[in-house]
Amino acid sequence: MLRSPLQWYDAYLFDLDGTIFLGDELLPGVERLMAELRARGRTVKFLSNNATKDPAQYREKLAGMGLEVPVEDIANTVVTTTQWLVAHHPGASLFVIGEEPLQRALREARFRLTEDPAEVDIVVASYDRAFDYRKLQIAFDAIWFHKRAFLIETNPDRYCPFPGGRGEPDCAAITAAIEACTGVKCQVSLGKPSPLMLEAALGGHDLDPGRCLMVGDRLMTDIQMAIDAGMASALVLTGESTVDDVLAREERSRPTYVVERIDHLLPTLAPGGGA
Ligand SMILES: [Mg+2]
Repeated sequence: MLRSPLQWYDAYLFDLDGTIFLGDELLPGVERLMAELRARGRTVKFLSNNATKDPAQYREKLAGMGLEVPVEDIANTVVTTTQWLVAHHPGASLFVIGEEPLQRALREARFRLTEDPAEVDIVVASYDRAFDYRKLQIAFDAIWFHKRAFLIETNPDRYCPFPGGRGEPDCAAITAAIEACTGVKCQVSLGKPSPLMLEAALGGHDLDPGRCLMVGDRLMTDIQMAIDAGMASALVLTGESTVDDVLAREERSRPTYVVERIDHLLPTLAPGGGA
């Protein structure tokens, strides 16, 4: 089942949690891979569904682990959610179930954030480690009682992978709580597999999707986005998805490559040769 690329790509797109790092540690092989890609002048971008940090905070986190990355090479759901709301619902009043970096970005984009359910136009569900019954009640009142607001989410991830096989409940759990009590469905999801994430990451770069490799640890988000975009994809087995998950999918929904370590993405130069 394991399969490494035999070729170099022009551009490499990397998920972060479970792909580049777990908790506060870079995963094995990341430094070697990045050094090789840089030496060959490849385009490298990072894209995360996690909205608990903004790109500047991710830049700092990566630098703290020894990986220097320009902030403009990092995109996440703080960026896609803000861009989508600016494009489609400028001036909307938002109730945001999300952490400070998301709230700050939305305020800076001139949205009004409110906790008064009678005024909420859009409920934004996200990964919020301070989620509680009070917030669920506000969302419920805004959507179900006042019949005014609709629901969007930053990302569809069920949990965020942590070291030692652990994890933290992610945005999908909060979206599901709101859907369960209101009976409404979330209308838009701004993270992978949405192509909006790809646009945010590649904005300005005119790249042939056939020359890009998307690398991630989740089939349903990272790999699905690549397949939808006509890109090659590589699943790293350092986060959520397993070989059994790959085998459970139809052939056309499987990643192009499956590797145990991220530096196994370095092309094997001859059949049977080591990466
Ligand atoms: Mg991940």
